[in-house]
Amino acid sequence: MDVQQIDQNLISIAAFILLAARRLVLSWQSSIMLRKGERIVCYWSGDCETSQTVVVQKGKYVKRYKPHEVKERKNGFLVLTNERLVWLEQRGIFGKSYHALFEMPLEHLKGISMGGAIMKYVSITDAEGEQTFHLMGIGSRELDSFKQTVFEQVEARKRSLEEEKQKDRVHILLDFSFLKSYMEKGGLVLQTFKCPECGASVKFPDAGSQTVCGHCGANIYANDVFKKIKDLIG
Ligand SMILES: [Zn+2]
Repeated sequence: MDVQQIDQNLISIAAFILLAARRLVLSWQSSIMLRKGERIVCYWSGDCETSQTVVVQKGKYVKRYKPHEVKERKNGFLVLTNERLVWLEQRGIFGKSYHALFEMPLEHLKGISMGGAIMKYVSITDAEGEQTFHLMGIGSRELDSFKQTVFEQVEARKRSLEEEKQKDRVHILLDFSFLKSYMEKGGLVLQTFKCPECGASVKFPDAGSQTVCGHCGANIYANDVFKKIKDLIG
């Protein structure tokens, strides 16, 4: 075999692997239900270790029951999206199918660590508990970059959740007429209030979500006045 022949062989092997890999990717991607605005960032193939406690019967004459931990490893894909980590379990040997078995919302993620002497495992903890994975290509050397990939998404997710919250807050624009009835219920009758900017007396408007200070010209929002009054009434 000459060098060219070897090259040719290598190319066809590479092409075959690529094709097989693509097929594999397509087969599991359809089993994950992405939400609006959600996208797959990264994925790793490997297995997930689950342990179950089963009660084993012991003793021939006097029966004793002992709890016994059974560990099971199932193949699949750990998929990182911009919102969560999803474990897709693979079922069947020839006609492979994938099932989203569990998910970890990124904002609930607590930590990622590694364990195991030879067969390294990745342990991911969230509010629900710990999940253990053996991921292809993730050893102790790759752990840092794996962590970074995941935590970048965690940070981005937390930021976008915070932004959404902020948006919601802005959307609730309080009205001064609502404020007045709120105060009256609390036994408070206000004709004027102090401008938050300059401290000048401002007439309490009958309606609208904003008013202008006649002294300094600052915009005063019902939302901000409400916060102060809430502290007063409790
Ligand atoms: Zn003012």
